Amino acid sequence: MEHSMDSYSGEVAWRFGATNPALEVARAHSIRWLLYRIYDCLNKNDSRPMAPLGFGDPSAFECFRTAAATEDAIVAAACSGKHNSYPPVAGSTDAFSAVASYLSRDLPYDISPSDIVFTAGCNHAIETMMAVLATPGANVLLPRPGYPMYEVYAAFHGLEFRHFDLLPEKEWEVDLKGVEAFADDNTVAMVIISLNNPSGSVYSYEHLAKIAETARKLGIMVISDEVQFVFGSKPFIPMGVFGETVPVVTLGGISKRWMVPGYRFGWIAVTDPKGVLRKNNVFESIVTYRGITADPAAPIQGAIPQIIAITDKSFFAKAIGLMRGAAELCYRKLQDIDCITCSHKPEGAMSVMVKLDIAYLDGIDDDIDFCCKLATEESVVICPGSGLRMKNWLRITFAVDLLLLDDALERLKSFCLRHAKQNTKA
Ligand SMILES: *Cc1c(COP(=O)(O)O)cnc(C)c1O
Repeated sequence: MEHSMDSYSGEVAWRFGATNPALEVARAHSIRWLLYRIYDCLNKNDSRPMAPLGFGDPSAFECFRTAAATEDAIVAAACSGKHNSYPPVAGSTDAFSAVASYLSRDLPYDISPSDIVFTAGCNHAIETMMAVLATPGANVLLPRPGYPMYEVYAAFHGLEFRHFDLLPEKEWEVDLKGVEAFADDNTVAMVIISLNNPSGSVYSYEHLAKIAETARKLGIMVISDEVQFVFGSKPFIPMGVFGETVPVVTLGGISKRWMVPGYRFGWIAVTDPKGVLRKNNVFESIVTYRGITADPAAPIQGAIPQIIAITDKSFFAKAIGLMRGAAELCYRKLQDIDCITCSHKPEGAMSVMVKLDIAYLDGIDDDIDFCCKLATEESVVICPGSGLRMKNWLRITFAVDLLLLDDALERLKSFCLRHAKQNTKA
């Protein structure tokens, strides 16, 4: 008896089901694949270094390496033997206290460790909020241009979203009339990215106060994404300052400020001194959703009090100085390019949104075509505005090594000159 079971020798019709349609909808909103398309346009025979002004991740450059104290804190936490267990979803470990006092520094009231949940990076905080709000019929208001992961997760969880505009001529402030016009009885929240990715603008106290008043009038919470950082002349004002006016959910993390996006550590903090979100079970839902999704790794949580406490002030001074220098260089060099309008100098985050005037150019169809040909001819990768619902705009990330940035902007300029209309130069 060789076989105890008959073996089936025909073609097996494996049954995997169809691709989850929600994944396809979510993917359509992501800019990752659009950027991959631009990367595909690169000419592999170009011996010059590729300039990555598309994705915002400076940590790969030596000049933006995080402080030694941050790396040491991880090593110490991992080797302590104290962070090998499942971490709590919410609670009272030192890590929660450290983040609570870090966030309370800039607020007129103290937030408690129990107002915070940890997430695997700020993207996971975004996912959690979009999932929690995705009740049948509900909608959220999102900024255009914005950070596409809001659309991705809202789409995946079946939460309707509507866009209000940010106004380039007003330093990308929120079009509050638009917010009121798009809101209806089913609107449950508006999202702001007050240290704005993609525009680099930083909202003033007065503007944030107006946002708070508008949201209050509509009876909706404000979700404020504050993962980025400021380096210009405007101070950082957390939206939580207006927590008495309107309930605020603040999303943050260490990815950008400490330049460690790979650590995957972020948070959701309810900056809501009146307890409106708690009374309405919103916080409970956040904890519940977080409890059924991934935890940030325990050694990172173990290292957080140290990371927050000991990271050398000189690290921030240097990082801020570098980013300011990069933003200034970028702004200045863009002024010399006829087909690009950069109307204001970034004061925070890592990128700037600029207008592309296709009419100046020969043989370039739109922003996507522009970015593709730029990648092929100059090995410079830039994100087409179309990915952020801003056709014929560009998002330029300046968080790269200064020498490479300078070179990349020169290449961008020669590309634009070469493709300029009625260009008689050789
Ligand atoms: C980078 C970024 C995020 C994602 O942060 P991670 O901690 O890396 O997940 C979220 N929101 C904005 C506005 C960002 O710029």
